[in-house]
Amino acid sequence: MSPELSQLIELQELDLEIQRVSGRLSRIPEERDSTENEFKQHAAEFLDLKSKHEETLEDRKQLEIELATTQQNYEKFEQDKTRVRNEKEYTAVLREIDTTRKHIGTLETDILKRMEELENLDVELAAQAPDVERMRTEVDSILAALDEERDAANRQLSEFSERRKKLAGQMSRPLFASYDRMSRLGRGQALAEVGSDRICAACRVRVRPKIFSDVRKGDQLVTCENCGRILYYRNETSHSAGATTMD
Ligand SMILES: [Zn+2]
Repeated sequence: MSPELSQLIELQELDLEIQRVSGRLSRIPEERDSTENEFKQHAAEFLDLKSKHEETLEDRKQLEIELATTQQNYEKFEQDKTRVRNEKEYTAVLREIDTTRKHIGTLETDILKRMEELENLDVELAAQAPDVERMRTEVDSILAALDEERDAANRQLSEFSERRKKLAGQMSRPLFASYDRMSRLGRGQALAEVGSDRICAACRVRVRPKIFSDVRKGDQLVTCENCGRILYYRNETSHSAGATTMD
């Protein structure tokens, strides 16, 4: 194999690796967001319960204030009863006493209902709290792992970029330029491997026997007549999966 072809293969393998790592890197922010959103969705249920608890507590407080006022009224009417001057007043005050007593009964029932609700909410909140805390811990560790992965990918990319610069510097300028042009035309893949079945791994078209034999010799740059990529052939022993994968 010509040194030029070896350089091109090395460059392409590096570029495919850069593509892979960049692709992974670009998906990390989305993964972070969806992890955080998933947590918020679960925590929302817990927070809903909490605000319901606060509302019920406030409700009970208002009912107790109303109960105290109503009881004061009731006592006032009881005193009025001793001061009535005629039958008509007596009937009127009795009616007030009756209405107020009923109101007190309703208020007491409502207060009991709120207390029961609060007890149930307390139980539910206590049951969910450890789960929410555990979820938060999990989410935090997932986020930390993603951040670590992102940092590692960035370090890897700057390493790759150094290696690419070095490699490009070792190549002749026209060779690098044609690689670069082909790479842009070929969706990031300037080279294509030809298997022993003579099929170009990139466009899946079989090359002519003459082309195939030139590629196998490996002493000149031969391009695929169909897709224009620079072709190379590797015997099984030196085969590496990296250069044959598309996308
Ligand atoms: Zn091709």
